[in-house]
Amino acid sequence: MYLKLIQEALIRAGYFPGPVDGQDGPLTRAAIKAFQSDHGLTADGLVGALTHHALFDGSTMTDADKPASTIDNQQLTPHFNREEFKCCCEGRYCNGFPAEMNPELVGRMEAIRLVVELPIIVTSGVRCPTRNAEVGGIPNSRHLSGNAADCYVPGMTVYELAAAARNAGLGVIVYENEGFCHLEL
Ligand SMILES: [Zn+2]
Repeated sequence: MYLKLIQEALIRAGYFPGPVDGQDGPLTRAAIKAFQSDHGLTADGLVGALTHHALFDGSTMTDADKPASTIDNQQLTPHFNREEFKCCCEGRYCNGFPAEMNPELVGRMEAIRLVVELPIIVTSGVRCPTRNAEVGGIPNSRHLSGNAADCYVPGMTVYELAAAARNAGLGVIVYENEGFCHLEL
């Protein structure tokens, strides 16, 4: 699924990864490497955080090709929409996105979603400093920079979710009584 988005992004950027089928193959690898070398990235054919950023944030595309990160409901991964990570102050102290979610965090959450095969409900994504203070977040909370998200999975315990998140390489704080996990890079 994620690979399909990469293939679509490569085509938008003018590269040819072969058919958009979500399958890894030599054409897709070659297109990723060509994109990387054209954009000053290490041409290893692997989509890490920097390549992901260049592919999806539009920093190397023309304005017309930009996926418009300013659009609230932009689909970030197959299962996560930008809107789900909006600051929970409901527009009282900010415009909803004082920061953008780190694509690496959302990508790892997508990986968890594919493993657990159940919807992940985000209760808090990015936060403006005022909202963060209001909900008792620490002053340098990773929520401020889009590097943390609180969530739960209906049908799973917080400990099962925590185990899946750790397997995906994320830092986890379990809030057992509140029924959610804080995930961060
Ligand atoms: Zn806010």
